[in-house]
Amino acid sequence: NTIKEPKPDWIRIKLTTGDNYQEIKSMMRSKTLHTVCEEARCPNIYECWANRTATFMILGDICTRACRFCAVNTGKPTELDLQEPERVAEAAENMGLRHCVITSVARDDLADGGASIFAETIKAVRTRMPLCSVEVLIPDFMGNWDALQVVMDAKPDILNHNIETVERMSNRVRAKAKYSRSLELLQKAKQMAPSIPTKSSIMLGVGEEWDEILQAMDDLRAVDCGILTLGQYLQPSPKHLNVLKYYHPDEFVVLKEEGMKRGFNHVESGPLVRSSYHAHEQVKSAEAV
Ligand code: SF4
Ligand code: SF4
Repeated sequence: NTIKEPKPDWIRIKLTTGDNYQEIKSMMRSKTLHTVCEEARCPNIYECWANRTATFMILGDICTRACRFCAVNTGKPTELDLQEPERVAEAAENMGLRHCVITSVARDDLADGGASIFAETIKAVRTRMPLCSVEVLIPDFMGNWDALQVVMDAKPDILNHNIETVERMSNRVRAKAKYSRSLELLQKAKQMAPSIPTKSSIMLGVGEEWDEILQAMDDLRAVDCGILTLGQYLQPSPKHLNVLKYYHPDEFVVLKEEGMKRGFNHVESGPLVRSSYHAHEQVKSAEAV
């Protein structure tokens, strides 16, 4: 599809550098760590880092998949870095994080998809930072539910797995994933650990219809997903999927209302909302229910 819309005003971002931004950046390099905040050029980086929230990307920076919206490099991953969990924990401590999000590339080359490293990272952050909440944003582990169990046993504060888009668009947007498998993952996570809140995200603007968004919300509620984030898809480069629609901020407000009506405990909805945006507040609201 080649329709392209010009970027509306509300997408333009004012960048203001926080005091400790450069300092954090060099610390990340010295520890050879990757953050989604930097790699995805997330528009919220200054605000999030100032609020002591960051998203680490573990298991390397080369993904075995190639979703058409994603700027991460695709290819053959390098070997497993067993010291990474400890370095993430050290970085979280240096940054004084209150909320630490841990995500990864898809590692379909590994038998457990990297689940054990997720578990080790949760434990390492917990040990150093008992008061820091830990959210994991996990890949689908190709439907390996034993791998999911390993992550759930490490007791993250939030288990996040993104469906990314509505059912009809799934194939086009993330070819190696399956809408139904992602829903099943969220359902299994709830069954394994009913007290751990589950969370998912939909990015808007890739060609979905309004009713399909509502259906996706219903599908998430049917597997007892409690936290939803909705944000505008922005094309990382001309090679990636085109943006077919820029949703108006008012439409994000209506979608938030639709979500709350459906019984989500927390819906974060807005043009620049990303999966981990205001994630710290979501822990609080998840605890409140
Ligand atoms: Fe990082 Fe997520 Fe905040 Fe973006 S929204 S800066 S990825 S923590
Ligand atoms: Fe990007 Fe994740 Fe898809 Fe890999 S699996 S290409 S990191 S969205």
